[in-house]
This record gives sequence, C-alpha cells and structure tokens, in this order.
Amino acid sequence: MVKNELRSSTEAEVVAELRRRPAFVMVSHVKPDGDTLGAGLALGLALKRAGKRVQYFQQDAVPRNLRFLPETQYVSREIPADLPPDTLYVFCDMSDYTRAGEFLPKIERANMLDIDHHLGNKHFGAFNFVIPTECSTGTAVMRLLREMRATIDADVATCILTTIMTDTGGFMHSNTSPDALELAAELMRDGADKEEITEEIFANKRVVATRLLGRIIDAMQFEQDGRYCYSHVDDAMLAETGADGEDTEDIVNVLRGQENVEVAALFKAIDGEIRVSLRSNGRVNVQAAAARLGGGGHFRASGLTFHGPLEAAYAAVGAALLAEGL
Ligand code: 5GP
Ligand code: MN
Repeated sequence: MVKNELRSSTEAEVVAELRRRPAFVMVSHVKPDGDTLGAGLALGLALKRAGKRVQYFQQDAVPRNLRFLPETQYVSREIPADLPPDTLYVFCDMSDYTRAGEFLPKIERANMLDIDHHLGNKHFGAFNFVIPTECSTGTAVMRLLREMRATIDADVATCILTTIMTDTGGFMHSNTSPDALELAAELMRDGADKEEITEEIFANKRVVATRLLGRIIDAMQFEQDGRYCYSHVDDAMLAETGADGEDTEDIVNVLRGQENVEVAALFKAIDGEIRVSLRSNGRVNVQAAAARLGGGGHFRASGLTFHGPLEAAYAAVGAALLAEGL
C-alpha cells in the first residue's frame, strides 16, 4: 500500500487562498466521471456566487450521463487567453496532474490546487487538499464549502450528491460510511435531486450498451480457481454493437460481482491504447497492482494504461496482481 506521509493543506489554508484569487479554472480528468466533474462544478458554482471568474476545463466531452448536471454547457477544452496570471487551476479527483490530459497549457506549481481522495496522490500542487478517508473528492470539496460558509443550494447539492453516488457505486461500495450517508441525507434536504441522479447515471442504459455487455460477458475468462475474472472490449466489438467507450464504464463491476471473484479486470483496447480497469473485493490491493504498471486509484478500484498488445497486457496485469497476493 502506498503510504501518503505528505501533509494536506487545511480547510482554512485553502479557503484563504480561494479568497485571494480572482479567477479559477476547475480541471477534471480525462474519461471524466461524476466525481471529478461534480466536485469541480460544485466548487465552481460556489466561487461564481462569491463573485469570482470561473472556467471549467476538461479535455474530453461531458459524458452523456452527466449532461444533466448544472454548468456542463460551460465545460470546454479551451482556456481563454485573457485569464489573469494569478488564476488558480483546481485539479479535482486526480493523483497526478497528467491525468488532466495533454491540452492544458503549462501551469506553474504556484497556481495549482490539488483536491483529491486517492491513495498515493503526488501532492503536485502548491496547495494539496488530499483526504484519502473521504468517499469522494466532492465530499472533500464539501468541507471547503462549509469553511467558506457557502450557501448549499439545490444545484450545488446535486453536484456533491452525484460525487457520492458515483464513487460509492450508489451507496454499495465499502467507502459508504455513516458520514457519507448523513451528508447524502443533508444534501437531499438542500434540494439535491437523487431521483434524477439515479435515473441519469445508474438507469437509462443504452440498448447498444447492454448488447456490448453481453459480448463482454461472453468473453469472460477465469483464473486462480475462479478468483480472478477478466474480459476485454475492442474497437470491433464497439463497431458491431454500435456502442462506444462511454458505454464500457460500469462493466468491470459486473465481472467483479460474479460468485467467488476477488479481482476483476476489463481490458479496453480502444483507439490504439489499452485502458485497464481493476476492481477488488477488498482482499487484494488493486491500487498497488496498478501502480506497478504506472497507474493508480484506490485499494478496491484502480486503472492504468498499457502500451503493447492485448496478450502482453493480460500477462503484465496478471503478474502484477499475483505480486500483490492474488
Ligand atoms: P476506472 O476503472 O473507473 O477508470 O478507474 C478506477 C479508479 O482508478 C478511479 O479512481 C481512477 O481515478 C483511477 N485510475 C484509473 N486510471 C488511472 C490511471 O491511469 N492512473 C491513475 N493514477 N489512476 C487511475
Ligand atoms: Mn473519486
């Protein structure tokens, strides 16, 4: 397990810095999920209401299932040329700024705030609000909103509840703490639309996505006496079903949910690279396994990018998992 000995900034330190800065760019990671985006939108909304200038940067388009969130019409991969030099770039939900992609201009460390809950966060910013015990980056943002005494209106509440529901898998994963449930209740009282979040993110699956799920289930393989389940998706499977990369997001959890499976991996050989999603039932640390291959994440959910053929990816990931005790 990667130990994080680095000191996190305090709420007061971060909020003093937010008050000092005139302008912000909220940055979410590539292949965005409800946590990276919801956390940035919630803080961005609060900063706008405090009279600040706020941009939202994200290299990839807003995924279909997150377009219901407020402010997503302003999310873009363009950075305006007239931002002041002391603009603060707020990186949400990433252990390293390289997860933001290649489209960001070079940013000085002095202008980086890192808000995150990942194990092994690199503390790459001048300010690092990194709290691995938080269930989502959005609940870390909530601490800052409280320190700011920001009004939690229905829009902000919906963004934060989205981060919780995304990262707890709809209150099912082990990070569903009493604090997370209490905060979720409070956010619903503040007007968060839980029904809409459930419908948009967890229901509402495209038929082509379900057809793709069928193909991936057909391709499941089991090793280690059935404790390790893996499968793959490639460009041909997408073309044949009419699905796209966004439709692959939750599927690794289906593999992990098969009886006796302790670790699942989904290999996504799409657009010339292999993205691997790993999930664990809590015995094997898949963050450590991913870190062996340049990736990262959490104890029970991690990911990496592999450069090379699919068979080599199977071998490398299998070896990394065995080295971590699978
Ligand atoms: P997913 O399988 O949903 O893409 O990712 C699961 C978790 O692993 C997420 O918390 C995500 O941030 C993290 N993760 C996925 N890919 C990478 C990667 O390439 N590098 C790092 N550091 N973390 C990753
Ligand atoms: Mn997260």
